[in-house]
Amino acid sequence: MSKQGVQNGKETATDKPKKHWSLGLLKSMKDPKSIYKETKKVVVIKDKYPKAKVHYLVLPRDEISSIYKLNKDHVDLLEEFGKIFEEIQTDHSNLMLCSGFHAVPSMQRLHMHIISKDMISSCLKTKIHWNSFTTKFFLPYRDVFKKLKEDGYIDKISPEAHKKFMSTPLKCNQCDFEPKNMPQLKQHLLTHCDE
Ligand code: AMP
Ligand code: ZN
Repeated sequence: MSKQGVQNGKETATDKPKKHWSLGLLKSMKDPKSIYKETKKVVVIKDKYPKAKVHYLVLPRDEISSIYKLNKDHVDLLEEFGKIFEEIQTDHSNLMLCSGFHAVPSMQRLHMHIISKDMISSCLKTKIHWNSFTTKFFLPYRDVFKKLKEDGYIDKISPEAHKKFMSTPLKCNQCDFEPKNMPQLKQHLLTHCDE
């Protein structure tokens, strides 16, 4: 127990075991301020560090840790993810949205990203952030859904592929421009905004 943990014989907040950061989505799923939409099967939360003008995460209520735990019994659940995407696209009809999963997620509980193509956000800082949405590290929803329906499982990517995707040179996701660095890319993205 920490020194500051006891005041007048009572335990204080510092005694609470700190939850690992990778469990943060589970906390946000219960926070009304972060919930955008919910159904019997899924909860849609706002991404806490959005990497674009619109960025949501779709999570199942069931304890499924990642896409690699999905099987044919989850086809209906994934179908619902697709319906949620269509609804959210309608909610934001002025923006082009994409939906998909990171091949190697950092956070626990299966989550599908719904993110707008502009990628304009102060939280988008690094090449890793960029490449995680713009290379094959981002597994499009439709591909994951098709594979699950056909084979009943999702293949993991190799560590070599992971490394390759993350070190891919920067390239705009809306034209052929190849920026030298992140500041140049972020400035360039603004030019697509008025299109
Ligand atoms: P990934 O696990 O790489 O697919 O992405 C996890 C996503 O969760 C990232 O886009 C983060 O910005 C987002 N994130 C991290 N912590 C939280 C949180 N506590 N609540 C909501 N979103 C979060
Ligand atoms: Zn461009």
